[in-house]
Amino acid sequence: MPSHRLANLTLDDLDIMGYSVAGEETVIAMPQLDVCFDIGKAPDQIVPINHVLLTHGHMDHAAGLAYYLSHRKFCGQSPGTVLAPANLIAPIRQILDAWGKLDGNAVPANLVPVTAGDEYPIKPNLFARVFPTKHSRGSVGYTVLEKRKKLKPEYAGLTGPQIVELKKQGIAIDNPVEIPLVSYLGDTQYLDFGQLPYVARSKILIAECTFYIDEHAGRADAGRHMHIDEFAKLVEDLENEYVLVTHLTQRTSMAEAKKLLREKLSPATLGKVFLLMAHMGRPNQRPTPVQ
Ligand SMILES: [Zn+2]
Ligand SMILES: [Zn+2]
Repeated sequence: MPSHRLANLTLDDLDIMGYSVAGEETVIAMPQLDVCFDIGKAPDQIVPINHVLLTHGHMDHAAGLAYYLSHRKFCGQSPGTVLAPANLIAPIRQILDAWGKLDGNAVPANLVPVTAGDEYPIKPNLFARVFPTKHSRGSVGYTVLEKRKKLKPEYAGLTGPQIVELKKQGIAIDNPVEIPLVSYLGDTQYLDFGQLPYVARSKILIAECTFYIDEHAGRADAGRHMHIDEFAKLVEDLENEYVLVTHLTQRTSMAEAKKLLREKLSPATLGKVFLLMAHMGRPNQRPTPVQ
């Protein structure tokens, strides 16, 4: 019996499982990519995932780190890899050391400090790229990109045997290309993420939208979160095929969030917007957009 009930949905053939309520818990896992964005309170279901990509140190996003790492050891798995803003590595180590003393067993961890612009390999054909967000000191977001090879246009008309022959001669017949699969913004105030082409063109964008009513625009600013007006401006400008909304507060119901999104977004954009927490329970391979 897993420790948590999680939302489950599939976008662009990629499974997403997670939970995200502002101030309570945020954890978003993508098992096929072997990444978990933030760790929340470390639900059992995500413990086998090898990479945690932490955006910032707020308790609702980071509380489960020690448990995740320790439980992997308990289950005989390799030490988990945690990418975290560089300024958080020392306090994370202190917490893990303290838990090691409390528990009587060291907590193995592969901690990787990151700053905006860094890249980290996830699998032979996948890597994570780090970009800045505007939330707390050092806070970052992550894009997971796939590396593919694309035949150079001048060789497009060749037959299989001709291509094999060129390869034998050691001629580079293809160019490397990067396909941005998913970008996760974590918690952030509005920024013009459209200036980052790999975020703007990610197939899936996972974005927070914390505040929904007009009177709460000031609260969004104070907490460095996005208000629905900023969220609308952001997603209308980007080219993502799917947008997954996270980090609603307990006070906004799914029905209310959908109603307000319908008022603020164009019909074309609405058709690609999904609310994570509207997909609690069993895996949903045909999730419904807000529209
Ligand atoms: Zn948060
Ligand atoms: Zn936060």
